[in-house]
Amino acid sequence: MSLLRLASGSAACLLAVSSLAAEPLPESTLAEARALRERALVDDTAYELVRSLTTEVGPRLAGSPGDARAVAWAVQKLQALGFANVRTEPVTVRRWIRGEARAEIVAPWPQALVVAALGGSVATPADGIEAEIVPVASLDDLKAQPPERIAGRIVFFSMRMERSRDGSGYGKTVPPRGSGAAEAARLGAVAMVMRSAGTSVSRTPHTGAQRYADGIPPIPAFALSNPDADLLEQQLASGQPVRLRVTSTSRWDGEAQSANVIGEIPGRGARKDEVIVLGAHLDSWDLGTGAHDDATGIGIIAAAAKLAGEARPRPARTIRVVFFANEEFGLTGAKAYAANHAGKIDKHVLGLESDLGAFRPFGLLARVPPDKLPLVRTIHSVLEPLGVAWLGTEANGGADVGQLRPLGVPVMDLATDAEPYFDLHHTANDTFDKVDPELVRRNVAAYAVIAYLAAEAEGGFGRLPVASKTAQ
Ligand SMILES: [Zn+2]
Repeated sequence: MSLLRLASGSAACLLAVSSLAAEPLPESTLAEARALRERALVDDTAYELVRSLTTEVGPRLAGSPGDARAVAWAVQKLQALGFANVRTEPVTVRRWIRGEARAEIVAPWPQALVVAALGGSVATPADGIEAEIVPVASLDDLKAQPPERIAGRIVFFSMRMERSRDGSGYGKTVPPRGSGAAEAARLGAVAMVMRSAGTSVSRTPHTGAQRYADGIPPIPAFALSNPDADLLEQQLASGQPVRLRVTSTSRWDGEAQSANVIGEIPGRGARKDEVIVLGAHLDSWDLGTGAHDDATGIGIIAAAAKLAGEARPRPARTIRVVFFANEEFGLTGAKAYAANHAGKIDKHVLGLESDLGAFRPFGLLARVPPDKLPLVRTIHSVLEPLGVAWLGTEANGGADVGQLRPLGVPVMDLATDAEPYFDLHHTANDTFDKVDPELVRRNVAAYAVIAYLAAEAEGGFGRLPVASKTAQ
């Protein structure tokens, strides 16, 4: 063998070795991920967790007795499932008491309406508030009204949420819920009612958080069910003034302790300090039992992490589940987690969240640096048999885990069918009977595959640009 041949042979050999080393997920790992996917499709750990949380704890509005029971439940369940480093990270939340809400059309044709107070609403006087209603289509429409048309009246936001698989109708109808009462109060309105930001055709209003503006006296705020909003519109269509009486006893009641609950599947070897974060929120609204929002998320991520931890070889990185406190009333837990873990944010390799119920997964999105897209597409190839298409790079990480994104943490989103979700979201109908075990398993399979392969992938997912403080 000539020296030349030896040299070129070594070079070829080196090339082969380096291209092998550059393959972040070897075929044996992908085979294990496919087997993990199939195991998850016959595993009911998540469904049983959803049953337990909705049945044995029930509604868990932040700061309520149910919320405290949920934290204790979560610690016990994570320990029983074999998670390591199970712990709570306390947060302080404001406590809101729903009380009772009523609404009735007084004129032209008296009828009772089904309403729910929006989260954070103040009470009416004991004998209620009666006034003529003035309909507006949107926040912009409200702001365009002359103040004398609004002052002393009840503002009615009439915008209807469109059904769509990607849930995009929600983002368009939610602004009046968040700040409609504040903006109406600024113009002198005495109360605010809105068509629910949701698509239920039952007489079940969709509640949700709203926020007042500093320096403007708050006015009571209510969501009407869609059929009740229709009824109001029918009466308005007569052209006669429509008078409404609303009554509510809701109030704020100091502060309470809640907590993020964390458990881990520890990684093996040199990369065990690096974490893949799976998030969901433990709190819920109080009208139903928070089955799809977000007991299913809790069940899905816990079962996915547990099953990924049973794969062989064990995941190289640590898979951390975070059950966030108080997502619904201001992301208290997510903000606390980002602050508590800021010093180790560089160890957070990837984040993903389950907070859109347990419906059919149909797509994957990943926000990663461009050079990491081939790795993501390799992970996606294992999800394709679940009916998951590649949807591109516009992932946001969800409400809670998305708080880590401006800190540079790459995120993935599993897109699931949002149409049935927004029929139930924040209503009394969000209960366990709506949960389909087969769809829960499909979600678990997808999250388990992503978590396992993300924990194994050589070289990780890079970093996103860090947002400046002012941009946040
Ligand atoms: Zn949620």
